Amino acid sequence: MPGEEEIRGAGFEPSKRVSQRITPDLHNGFTERPTQRGPFSFFVAKIETQAHKPAAGRAARVFVLLACASIKLCLRVARRKQTNTMSTNMKALRKMQPARGLSMEPAQVPVIGPADVLVRVKAASICGTDLHIYGWDRWSQGRIKPPVTLGHEFCGVIERIGDEVAALALKPGDFVSAEMHVNCGHCHQCRVGEAHICPNVKIIGIDQDGAFADFVRIPAANIIKLDPGIPEHYGAILDPLGNAVHTVLAGAIAGQSVLVTGCGPIGLMSIVVAKACGSSAVFATETNEHRRAMARRMGADVVINPAAEDAVAKILSETSGTGVDVLLEMSGNPSAIQQGFKALRAGGRASLLGIPTESVPLDLVNDVIFKGATVQGIYGRRMYDTWEQMTALLKAGRLNLDPLFDERISLEKFEDAFRKLQSGLAGKILLYPNGLQH
Ligand code: NAD
Ligand code: ZN
Repeated sequence: MPGEEEIRGAGFEPSKRVSQRITPDLHNGFTERPTQRGPFSFFVAKIETQAHKPAAGRAARVFVLLACASIKLCLRVARRKQTNTMSTNMKALRKMQPARGLSMEPAQVPVIGPADVLVRVKAASICGTDLHIYGWDRWSQGRIKPPVTLGHEFCGVIERIGDEVAALALKPGDFVSAEMHVNCGHCHQCRVGEAHICPNVKIIGIDQDGAFADFVRIPAANIIKLDPGIPEHYGAILDPLGNAVHTVLAGAIAGQSVLVTGCGPIGLMSIVVAKACGSSAVFATETNEHRRAMARRMGADVVINPAAEDAVAKILSETSGTGVDVLLEMSGNPSAIQQGFKALRAGGRASLLGIPTESVPLDLVNDVIFKGATVQGIYGRRMYDTWEQMTALLKAGRLNLDPLFDERISLEKFEDAFRKLQSGLAGKILLYPNGLQH
């Protein structure tokens, strides 16, 4: 976005929303520029009105300025002292070596910069990407630079804020989550309002230390303040829920028939979001039986096992030979993608989120060009439109994601969670670094 821009806080209550002036910053994407006057500005203003009364006014002004400066210094020292009483050690789930596996390690509590926030993690959720990094597949080998702490789906409570963060309306004790894609703020995409596809993006929990730890450091501009009414298990999965919301709302959805190919956590959440936003019928394909059952529980109207029946024929027959209005591709599987395009009606929308690990041959002539299909790649969450839409849907009570949740366990028991998720028999498993009762 060019130069300065107005952003809105992401609280639930419109009345609680605040505007801040922000300006791009090389380090974190954005640095707050305070527009409100400080607590001492009233006194200074009073004295300023006296300033043209020569000697007495000038002396009083100097005195007040000095007093203000020393009070500010005292406050800063007090804040530092409080910081110093906190332990500098914590535990973290880390990738230490370029090899399979993860390990619990002692680590330093992150040191925050002036525009950062330190968050005490309440609950974190394991993502498919974490499974890839655990298994050390080809993608991980090219991307991950050990040692690094994983974890990019989480919620927690602000422990401490950087010196320049005050006017961003964040304070210790706030219940928060975060957009973990940190954009550069300077590239073409960032400047034209497409920060979610910034080519210089760094992902916290992948490229930098993440949230599978007692504490995580986040740029204040990426913090999403949450309504305390949001249960923490929902707060911990806003990152993938945002993927689902972004994909579903990338085009018309009310009154549209929808096909979701692939019912992993994001596909399952897409079913719920599509229904909540008024889609007329949701078809879902999934090869895993456990996940087909979950798709039914989460509201899919027609659930198909493409390994056992002709998914395209079934969808065409259910739509009077027309095909679905919208394809939401959530598997990354080549045959699911091909089937999705075959089942899409002429003039339909294909929104592709799933990430194939190989090239996917497509019949472009018949399935895209002659169909006049609209094809979109979907990456991450729009900053911060998707967050606004998602939190509004949650506040309205439109999204019942309860069937998605599996176990809640302490971070130390991570091996059990990864084993269960790798079997494909679990929904979302939440890890609690600071204990289950925290
Ligand atoms: P997931 O791997 O848990 O889910 C994929 C599902 O597809 C699985 O349940 C699998 O059984 C199913 N599947 C496999 N082959 C199929 C077929 N032929 N037909 C129907 N279903 C089939 O992944 P997820 O966490 O739910 O994420 C969904 C996809 O989105 C993944 O490819 C992931 O890498 C990708 N992703 C993309 C972004 C983005 O920003 N674009 C972000 C996160 C995840
Ligand atoms: Zn950028």
